[in-house]
Amino acid sequence: MAKATTTLRQVLTYQPHHAAWFAATQDLFNRVAAFYFEVISAHEGVLDLSNQEALTALEMLTHATKEHPTPVMPLAERAEHVPAMFRRAAIHAALGSARSFSTHLSKWRAKQEKAQAKGKKFSEHPPVPPRTWNKSPTLYAGQWKDRTPTSILLKLWTGTCWSWLKVRITGREVPADVEMGSPSLMRRGNHWWLQTPLEKHFRSPPTIEKQVTTRETTKICAVDLNINEHLAVCTIQTVEGTILATAFIGGGRRIAGFRKKQLGRIARNRRKTGIIAEGEQDNVHLWRKINTIDDSIAHLVSARIVQFAKQHEATIVVFEHLGNLQPHKGTYSHRGNSKRAFWMKGRIFTYAKYKAYNQGMLTSRVSPRNTSRECARCHRLVARYEACQPAEGYTSGAPLVLCPACGMKGHADRNASLVIGQRLITRYQQPSQGKPQAPLRAERVSKGTGVAVCQEAKSKEEPSSLQARHADRDEHGTAQDVLLGMEKRTSDIPCQLRLPYES
Ligand SMILES: [Zn+2]
Repeated sequence: MAKATTTLRQVLTYQPHHAAWFAATQDLFNRVAAFYFEVISAHEGVLDLSNQEALTALEMLTHATKEHPTPVMPLAERAEHVPAMFRRAAIHAALGSARSFSTHLSKWRAKQEKAQAKGKKFSEHPPVPPRTWNKSPTLYAGQWKDRTPTSILLKLWTGTCWSWLKVRITGREVPADVEMGSPSLMRRGNHWWLQTPLEKHFRSPPTIEKQVTTRETTKICAVDLNINEHLAVCTIQTVEGTILATAFIGGGRRIAGFRKKQLGRIARNRRKTGIIAEGEQDNVHLWRKINTIDDSIAHLVSARIVQFAKQHEATIVVFEHLGNLQPHKGTYSHRGNSKRAFWMKGRIFTYAKYKAYNQGMLTSRVSPRNTSRECARCHRLVARYEACQPAEGYTSGAPLVLCPACGMKGHADRNASLVIGQRLITRYQQPSQGKPQAPLRAERVSKGTGVAVCQEAKSKEEPSSLQARHADRDEHGTAQDVLLGMEKRTSDIPCQLRLPYES
């Protein structure tokens, strides 16, 4: 069986003065957790035990019972009236932090030893234990009751005593067939939310190899991620090669425009203020804005990809490897923009991977080599061109492709996406070839017509296909206008994404 975990976040509605209770509960939780972190630090052997054994050992050390009336480090000296289940949740939080700290520390020590053995200078700082504690209090059974889809009773610390508080819950409903874990209280801005881990158990999907080699009807969702208008182009194809659907997920130009504006502002602010203090983040607000938008777009796009794949009953989602970030020339905002667009592709992959897994789909990646230059039908080299230009040469980032060999004509990113899907299939059908064959180098020099591939590629000794692929991709394509010229377009997901700052 496989297990997938997601988190359900719901807004809590309560009287304004009760906010102080939530804060007091969190504060107490963190005080108890910090205390147990100290206890663990003083008794490091605890970390060699299992969580259950460690819990028992830590309670013995801190909690007075009839059998052990005088614990070594009594919790009661630090915090009184801590209910058993609240204490246990805090112990687990402290154990988690302590285990993580101890792992980091031993990794650091190993690195240091290695460097010393080689006689190298080692200047990396050792990890430090947490100085402040800001954990979300987890509420084990006994700290909450009577949970319905719209309300819950929480046992909160008012600052002087424990009190039951009934709060209303709004937000996403709990989906069926999931197991709810212990909820925790989370502060977002000035408001308190309830966070509940949801566990779903399902039969582990068969390996990709098995799915591809044993069932011709296995559906694969192949995704071409871009940094131009179409952030993602997805196609569904079966193992035996039938193409079933395509989805264009747009919004790239708007996010690039938004980012450019913010980066421009940062550049102007920097010019005004002059030198930036080293190690100090400037324009915090603007950076945060860019990050938030990038992250939510990555979530939206990845959710769309998985939704599309699920809709068409795909069981495998395949991307291409990202390659390296190629440096761009140009203004500060241009360089920054392409760098962030590249990072966003990575985030989209990471998010799509876990979202797909939650739906029982597996994710894979194939070599990005020449995916845009290969014809999805006959695997020869294609011509890539702008709508208004003759169908020849190779213009990086242009929206259209034509295969001179077989006459295939279509959208360039859709073609690339189909090639990506085919690479996954060929990987398992011809196990001797780990990587798909790339067209011959000599064959590839068909970019006559004076069309520049890109500046960076030219300056190198030999033009790498990767560079050609990633550079200059954010020029304004005319994809929407030429869609009509495509052979087939069966997308049923709206092309445009709504950006969160627009709503
Ligand atoms: Zn062809």
